[in-house]
Amino acid sequence: MSAKAEHMLTVAGSCFCGAVQFEITLPTLFCVHCHCTMCRRVHGAGYVTWIGVPYDQFRLTAGQAHLKVYRSSEHGRRSFCDVCGSSLFCESTHHPDHIDIVLANINGAIDRAPQAHYYFSDRAEWIRVGDTLPRFGGPTGTEPVHE
Ligand SMILES: [Zn+2]
Ligand SMILES: [Zn+2]
Repeated sequence: MSAKAEHMLTVAGSCFCGAVQFEITLPTLFCVHCHCTMCRRVHGAGYVTWIGVPYDQFRLTAGQAHLKVYRSSEHGRRSFCDVCGSSLFCESTHHPDHIDIVLANINGAIDRAPQAHYYFSDRAEWIRVGDTLPRFGGPTGTEPVHE
């Protein structure tokens, strides 16, 4: 086995009920918290932690028929399990190279910790963030904010 192959670790993930299952191969591209209103609504959560994975490192291993796709914007598609409702993936024509995957649905450790807060200006007013990660916001959700 080559040195590179030894680092190609695979981590599995699934929805809450297990009907939809998938695998990713590390490394991931990023891991960020998103405070945008769409993520909050879809997940019923204060904010959502996403990882980015290149499509060729992502495999759906079970439950294709249970994966329902919701077109959440002109450019975005969010998918969820039609049995248990877990929100699973977000895809966008703005980033055709990778798929966004909810970190909470991964069954183990990945290669990085959360790196930043995105759409921080849009955060829920009842959310208190105490970490020192960089915060981004503004209209694009990705401009540096200092507050
Ligand atoms: Zn499910
Ligand atoms: Zn979001």
